[in-house]
Amino acid sequence: MKKRMTKLFLLLSIVSAMFPFLAPVAASAADASSGYVLLAHMSSISVKVGQNVSKGTVLGVMGSTGDSTGPHVHVEYTKGVSNNKSDRLNPKDYIDIYAALNKKAKISCDWMCYPNHTGVDLIPEAGGGANVTSPVKGTVVTATYSSSWGNYVRIKITGSSGGSTWNRVAETGRFYPQMTVNVRNAPTTTSPQVAQYYKGESFVYDSYVVNEGYIWLSYISGSGVRRYVAWRVQGGEKFGYIV
Ligand SMILES: [Zn+2]
Repeated sequence: MKKRMTKLFLLLSIVSAMFPFLAPVAASAADASSGYVLLAHMSSISVKVGQNVSKGTVLGVMGSTGDSTGPHVHVEYTKGVSNNKSDRLNPKDYIDIYAALNKKAKISCDWMCYPNHTGVDLIPEAGGGANVTSPVKGTVVTATYSSSWGNYVRIKITGSSGGSTWNRVAETGRFYPQMTVNVRNAPTTTSPQVAQYYKGESFVYDSYVVNEGYIWLSYISGSGVRRYVAWRVQGGEKFGYIV
């Protein structure tokens, strides 16, 4: 069985080499560093306009203020400086939305699930706190009450990956994802997703980085850009296997 599997992967590797267009292509990734993140329906806010927050800074307490039917956190991402709905993008594709509730949260409404809804609604899972934390590093630009959003905090993203340093360790191997994994330009979930790898595909990596509780495999893309893929939680769940 093991031999057959090895043969299968060998065949897959040959097929991917023969048909490079099957490999993930870079999406037209927006730069999350130019955007704004809004967290809404909070019961209270503990930050002030102009305050610099880090990813994980407590912004306030979850609630059901404004146009809401129950306690949840509404997360929005707006590219650029406007607040036009046309500039809003699915925050899931740009920021680590789960950081808003310390990762112990599930999506109750994704992006366009209701008419005019342009965000992701998170509700806490067992063990999840009521604290709303910042999913990005940035400056608080609005902390106020509005009739539809209730109490909300709007943050201008600053330096999503800039300024951070990480230690890249040389190690060569091939990664076989067993689920869809995101490709990023920095080993952080705040770096925009630029492509994906799917189960059945693989790639060769030349180094790895430990950051944010994940182990990131790194390689140089066909376009010459260094990429990062989280292949496992440090000491925990694996999203595939390496050989
Ligand atoms: Zn919502």
